[in-house]
Amino acid sequence: MQLESTITCPKCGGASTETMPTDACQFFYDCPHCGTLLRPNPGDCCVFCSFGTIPCPPKQGEEVGGCCDAGMTD
Ligand SMILES: [Zn+2]
Repeated sequence: MQLESTITCPKCGGASTETMPTDACQFFYDCPHCGTLLRPNPGDCCVFCSFGTIPCPPKQGEEVGGCCDAGMTD
């Protein structure tokens, strides 16, 4: 399982490598380049799934029990 994902900001195009938490999804992310508060795209559970090179750990281990968005409704 990979815990490092490079997030590319859709606003400024700046990329930064972040370590993902294994037990939770990160919903908000402050772009260190332009300060924009990023949110996941509709249907994605976290910013790593939307903007990262690697999906979040719960997604990587989906067969184990699904992602954290399983119990979340919009
Ligand atoms: Zn940015």
